[in-house]
Amino acid sequence: MQFPDLGLRRELLDAVAAEGYTQPTPIQAQAIPAVLEGRDLMGAAQTGTGKTAGFTLPLLQRLADGQRAAPRKVRALVLTPTRELAAQVGESVTTYGQHLPLRCSVVFGGVGITPQIKALERGVDVLVATPGRLLDLHGQRAVDFSKLEILVLDEADRMLDMGFIHDIRRILKLLPAQRQNLLFSATFSDEIRALAKGLVHDPLEVDV
Ligand code: AMP
Repeated sequence: MQFPDLGLRRELLDAVAAEGYTQPTPIQAQAIPAVLEGRDLMGAAQTGTGKTAGFTLPLLQRLADGQRAAPRKVRALVLTPTRELAAQVGESVTTYGQHLPLRCSVVFGGVGITPQIKALERGVDVLVATPGRLLDLHGQRAVDFSKLEILVLDEADRMLDMGFIHDIRRILKLLPAQRQNLLFSATFSDEIRALAKGLVHDPLEVDV
């Protein structure tokens, strides 16, 4: 399986080629076609497997194919446990999406909230966030989830270990029920499966 066989559009293939990737990793080969079809996904994948491109590339394509929400309300939300991971995912979204007219913003705690509010006001298609700061922003009415199409929970096991389960459940209640859900976790414990039960529908399960 090669990148051009996965159904990705030219702008994304160009970005992948510019990164020097010659072949999709196993999780990319499985996840990309399924996410492009709109399926939910549960991926058991550690860092280093290429999981970030595995969800970012098809997510960007689905947003580029769809109707732009006016005025640029958040259409994809990626939740991560830490600010470091949020920053990394944000860089990947920006790199892979460089030839597409989509905007990405990264928000996390421990830094000033005002620039994040201003970025959201300017309009964001893809928002990468840690749970606590996202709830703060929502509390300040800085983020509107009414046009949300895709939710990604990245490193869900770490989010639970860090005690984010209540924040995650609060966030889930704020999102439109009709949406695509992608859940990544290094392991699938009973706790993760319990979270997944109310989250993903008929998911493709990928284990690499
Ligand atoms: P991740 O597992 O998403 O943290 O990615 C691990 C590393 O693999 C990152 O530095 C990516 O740039 C790199 N990577 C992702 N996909 C590929 C690929 N298909 N070929 C080569 N490197 C890749």
